[in-house]
Amino acid sequence: MLYLDNSATTKPYPEVLDTYLKVAETFFANPSSIHKLGSDAEKLLTSARKQTSELLGVNFREIIFTSGGTEGNNLAIKGAALANKHKGNHIITTEIEHPSVIESVKQLKEIHNFDVTFLPVDENGFVSLERLKNELCNETILVSIMSVNNEIGSIQPIEGIGNLLLNYPNVLFHVDHTQGITKIPLNIKSSSIDLCTISGHKFHALNGTGALYVREGVKLTPILSGGSQEGNLRSGTESLPGIVSMTKALRMAIESSTHNLAILTKVRNKLLNELSTIEGVVINTPISKGAPHIINFSVPGLKAEVLVHFLEEKNIFVSTNSACSSKRVKESTTLLAMNKGGNIAASAIRLSFSLEQTEEIIEPFIIHLKNGLKKLTKVTR
Ligand code: PMP
Repeated sequence: MLYLDNSATTKPYPEVLDTYLKVAETFFANPSSIHKLGSDAEKLLTSARKQTSELLGVNFREIIFTSGGTEGNNLAIKGAALANKHKGNHIITTEIEHPSVIESVKQLKEIHNFDVTFLPVDENGFVSLERLKNELCNETILVSIMSVNNEIGSIQPIEGIGNLLLNYPNVLFHVDHTQGITKIPLNIKSSSIDLCTISGHKFHALNGTGALYVREGVKLTPILSGGSQEGNLRSGTESLPGIVSMTKALRMAIESSTHNLAILTKVRNKLLNELSTIEGVVINTPISKGAPHIINFSVPGLKAEVLVHFLEEKNIFVSTNSACSSKRVKESTTLLAMNKGGNIAASAIRLSFSLEQTEEIIEPFIIHLKNGLKKLTKVTR
């Protein structure tokens, strides 16, 4: 089997599953309970927070455990906007953010009358610092920009944006780092980031785990009310097995990343080379400043779903960019924002790799892809 849909979710490391089970069996008590079992669970939670903060290079109190990227983005954006509305009512984000960002800002606009600017991107999927600078105004209180786009893998100039925003003390900087974590270097502190979202299931932890970095001093209005866990920012009994096993995955992914990213970069470059020689294939991924784990290409005229299902029959699992609801198939908003046109957007295929991918996938993938194209299109080679 070739599983090339790791940006959707990764397979958990076996060690992560072991850790989950052990913690669930032994430390099942509620970390808020005052008896010994509860305080043992709380100690383990503290240790996981300490380790996660060290791995991310931030302070202990700056990590809030969440259920993943969607929750982290909602809490960061709605929480920051609502807590800082007295300072201004303008939010800036981009046209190619994940729906958890886009829909959060739309809700803030509709319900709370915020003004929202969606920055356009260029034909390679990059935002422009100049354009951002032009949009910043006295009313701006929040800028939310992803580190790596989940569909095409463009890496945004986060450090440059952070530096620019240092000149705007009222503006909080949120980075959706869900696709970037463990795949690209990002120094949260030196990039002047105020809020940073990560999600466990993108680096071989379990679905439903994640964390939000909240710089000390940043005020957020919680979106979940209840028992005041996680510094009153995220009420709800903590999933200790999920949190501890995510910490394990983060450590394993980071420790192996120097080695694995070098291999991944080779895999990506070789595949891009191969793809560029196939007639009818258009590469949508930016060649430079593209994340090592994402490749996006289109075969204009061939519906992406048709190719996905052809490859699936060969035990190769890739994804379309399309968010499919039951009957309606939507074109990729990212590719449309890049002005790629409907034909490219409707035929876009995403390959996304895990940290453990090797060059062995290249040959079988290319062979089956070529066979598929021969069979499914009228292109003659
Ligand atoms: N942001 C980005 C860039 C993503 O790729 C995803 C997951 N597809 C999310 C946020 C949401 O993460 P989760 O699935 O953990 O809610």
